[in-house]
Amino acid sequence: MLEHLASVCSAPDCERTLSEDRRMLTMETPDGTRRAYECECGAVTVTVLSDEQTRTQQ
Ligand SMILES: [Zn+2]
Repeated sequence: MLEHLASVCSAPDCERTLSEDRRMLTMETPDGTRRAYECECGAVTVTVLSDEQTRTQQ
């Protein structure tokens, strides 16, 4: 239910929101667009967006 909201760090003790300027890379896959974010805490979180959510990001 949270996938429509901003990404949040996946580290257990970290709930920082991952903004676009934390994005390290973007990968197009059959399942959608995968994005890797590096949090200020050092953890890397990967999110997957379905095609309908990618819209006008660049
Ligand atoms: Zn974090």
